[in-house]
Amino acid sequence: MKVRSDSLRWKIAAWYATLLVVVLATTSAVLVWRFGSIIYAQARERANATMDEVLAVANPVGAPLGLQDVASNTTPLQVLLDSDNLVYWASPDSAIEIDTPAGYPMVKTPNLGEGRIPSAPVDAAHPVLFRNVRVRGEPAIVAANFVRVGGTTDVVVQVAQSLATVSHAIGEARRTVLIVLAVAIAAVIGLSLVLASQAINPINELSRAMREIGFERLGRRLNWPRRDEIGELAESFDDLLARLEASFSRERQFISDASHELKTPLTSINANAQMLLRWADRNEGVRRESIETIAHESSSLGEMVNGMLTLAKADRGDDIPREPVSLIEEAREVVRHATARAREKGLTLTFAPKSDSAIVFAEPHLIRQMIGNLVDNAIKFTDTGGIDVLVGAKDGIGWLEVRDTGPGIGDRDLPRIFERFYRADRSRSRSVPGTGLGLAIVRSVARVHGGNVDAERSATGGSIFRVTIPLLALFAGLFCCCLPNLARADDIAVSASPIVNVTLANGNLTVRTWNRSAVRIVADKRVDWKRFDARETSPRIPAEINSWAVTVATPRGPAFLPAEPFLLPAFSPGPHDAVSMQGFGDTTITVPSRTALVIARVIAGTIAVRGYHGVVVAHVRRGAITFVGFAGTAYAQVVAGRVVAVNSSFDRLRARTASGNLLFEGCRSRQIDVTAVRGTILYDDGAFAGGPAYFSTGEGTVAVGVVGSGLTISGHSASDDVMLGFGPQATTHTRGGSVVVNVGGGGAFVSAQAPGLVALYRGKLADHRRILARFGFARFARVAPFSALPPPSRPRGRRPFRRPPR
Ligand code: ADP
Repeated sequence: MKVRSDSLRWKIAAWYATLLVVVLATTSAVLVWRFGSIIYAQARERANATMDEVLAVANPVGAPLGLQDVASNTTPLQVLLDSDNLVYWASPDSAIEIDTPAGYPMVKTPNLGEGRIPSAPVDAAHPVLFRNVRVRGEPAIVAANFVRVGGTTDVVVQVAQSLATVSHAIGEARRTVLIVLAVAIAAVIGLSLVLASQAINPINELSRAMREIGFERLGRRLNWPRRDEIGELAESFDDLLARLEASFSRERQFISDASHELKTPLTSINANAQMLLRWADRNEGVRRESIETIAHESSSLGEMVNGMLTLAKADRGDDIPREPVSLIEEAREVVRHATARAREKGLTLTFAPKSDSAIVFAEPHLIRQMIGNLVDNAIKFTDTGGIDVLVGAKDGIGWLEVRDTGPGIGDRDLPRIFERFYRADRSRSRSVPGTGLGLAIVRSVARVHGGNVDAERSATGGSIFRVTIPLLALFAGLFCCCLPNLARADDIAVSASPIVNVTLANGNLTVRTWNRSAVRIVADKRVDWKRFDARETSPRIPAEINSWAVTVATPRGPAFLPAEPFLLPAFSPGPHDAVSMQGFGDTTITVPSRTALVIARVIAGTIAVRGYHGVVVAHVRRGAITFVGFAGTAYAQVVAGRVVAVNSSFDRLRARTASGNLLFEGCRSRQIDVTAVRGTILYDDGAFAGGPAYFSTGEGTVAVGVVGSGLTISGHSASDDVMLGFGPQATTHTRGGSVVVNVGGGGAFVSAQAPGLVALYRGKLADHRRILARFGFARFARVAPFSALPPPSRPRGRRPFRRPPR
């Protein structure tokens, strides 16, 4: 048997053996000790009995007895000192000696021979003593008594009881036990190894069997015969194999289907390219047709690859970033985009929301793609009549239905249409473009969001596709809760420094302050809210807020905002209780003036922060964020739409848009970082305290107008298009492709970057006609100040930003 020191078998055996050896050794030691003490006590008993006999003679009580009867004329001392008597009292393994109090032997039993019992230190005060001494070279227990004989003479009587036999017996017992112990230990170690091996062997067999199963033999099963714990493990392994096998076979099927589907357009592209090579110069008709075919096939290839990428994304499951998404808003958008296509085919396309809100916690692009696929299919497969898109919410479930008056789906195809690459009725499908991935994507997206999709034939013969996804009942974000209170106007008593968290599906949210310790909600529709006390809030107060990566489709292609964290400042010590709200419609929330943090999220609409001093995290998907008279730290993100700040003061501001302008007027900033992927940035008539300040846009222009001095402003334009509007106080030079302006020298550092025009000037843009003309900002300048702008009542962000004329 091969034993590795780190093997489980060896460890079990070692532990088992050690335990048994310790138990055996302890038991034996206790037994031997107990045996020794029992026979020692017996020896002492015997010495005591002999002593009692001797003492009975030394001081007879009552009627004369024993030897005195024999010679009644003798005194007790004479009887005692008669060595014959001593022999009578003694035994072969005991001896008696009588000494004077000074320790001289008076008489002793002959078995002591020349030797004697060592004299005992006893006297009248300490008359009795037991000792272990050696008598004639042998161990013995000696009882000594100081006795007054016949009331006159003091003697010391010593009785020695030999321990030779006792020691021998104990020694023998010890030896026997040791031998037995050694044999037992050896047996225990051997047995432990055998037992451990027996326990471990099935595991070894199992792992051998598992090793034999490779990727190419996923069909094999262990089929373990035993029903013990190892049997359970084997059964779990068999289950895992079954799941793996199914997943691999799906994957293989997918790859083979995908290759097959990709091959057809590729072959066609190849054939047409060959045609082009051969005929392009000679035949204009062939050239045109081939190029058209290649364009068509490559676009369907692209579609298929996009579909496969979306499927892969949806299959990623938990990894996808999610946010509150309104099914109603997404469906409305999809329908808006598809209306023209439906009209071209002579179809009606209607959209009918059946409830006020249906918010799900989801990845918005996937949701839109899912709805888009269903609507596209309905338009594709319907020749006359129309398509209805219905959305609603009931019992915690959001639902979406797409009904059409098309040919419907046959019973044979119904169970299969959600499979990847499945296209029902090939003959019809061939005339209708498609990849066979659309419905597979719909199902994947629904499932990854915890929902499902099913299809049926409508009574009129068309198709009905119905998607269900659980609603966002749990509050994603700072708190997780159901919000039982329904309000249109409510005062909620809170601490002086609460945290307020609001999510609106669509509508306009205004945040104001007042000097009361209550949060007031005034809403034109239903709002659900819940208050948390400080103990519930404290453990959940975040140190930073994370913004997810988002991509938004714009008329000039997708714009991408990467994920980023935003570190929140330390709040006042608290206590901080919290109010969480969720709803839709126009809502005004009035918060205590010392509110620690406001987190506001609107999917489609606006957030207006007015006269609030504190920390704000605001996120709008489509719409706008406005700050008026704000002071403090803010994170403002509008994915599609603008950020406007008027007469506000920012300790720290991070503002960004994917597609939209960022406009500041009369603001003062300590640290500010403003970026637009596609949009213009205007920081007009603004001051900087400390810095740094960054303004940059990926596509658009940047204009910074400063008041005060003590500034270094660097402007960088990728097209070397920097315009300046400063008086003689400012000095200007260029450094590394940037124009650097010193206004009064040193102090705050401001950087402005754009691919096109960068304008740096003093004061207001309206006072710099030359720049204004280049900027194309006449519209903004005319309506200044921005505070006079009415808050947009409908989502504004979708208006594409127009590039200023060069
Ligand atoms: P594609 O539309 O690219 O062919 P899908 O996965 O979207 O692929 O759809 C799979 C099949 O289901 C289609 O080929 C079609 O036969 C059938 N189908 C889908 N939607 C409809 C519909 N609204 N009406 C009738 N048949 C449909």
